[in-house]
Amino acid sequence: MPEMTNHSIDATTECIEVDHVDGHYRLVATKGFDVEDHILTLEGEIVGSPSRFSVQMGLNQHLEVPALAQAEQPMDRYRWRFLNHSCEPNAKFENRNLMAIRKINASEQITFDYNTTEYELASPFECHCESDKCCGVVRGYRWQGKLD
Ligand SMILES: [Zn+2]
Repeated sequence: MPEMTNHSIDATTECIEVDHVDGHYRLVATKGFDVEDHILTLEGEIVGSPSRFSVQMGLNQHLEVPALAQAEQPMDRYRWRFLNHSCEPNAKFENRNLMAIRKINASEQITFDYNTTEYELASPFECHCESDKCCGVVRGYRWQGKLD
């Protein structure tokens, strides 16, 4: 596209992609990001209870991929649902914006700490991020004393 009309969305589309490795989806950078770079903006609808993929926005507010879109084009506008957890992530959410918190190289997986957004996970899971800071089982900040 020659026009630079909707810059933020176009830039996002070109900078990240969904990768499928060993039966797991992940979000991967297709170019480098610097600290504080904007990676993507969450789009979706607010629902009252969490799912495996939703991101918590507030008390009883969970951003979810609209049901219709799940069947159609989950890979495009709603790629954020493929963001994996890490206890030592390279990105974090500021409201609906995912920002780089360190330099991210092209082809590196983009991750955030689920415990920073989720009070209580709908589907707790054992973490394999291999970080020294790994919390073991990811359940949400309710279980971490991570309220700040
Ligand atoms: Zn971990």
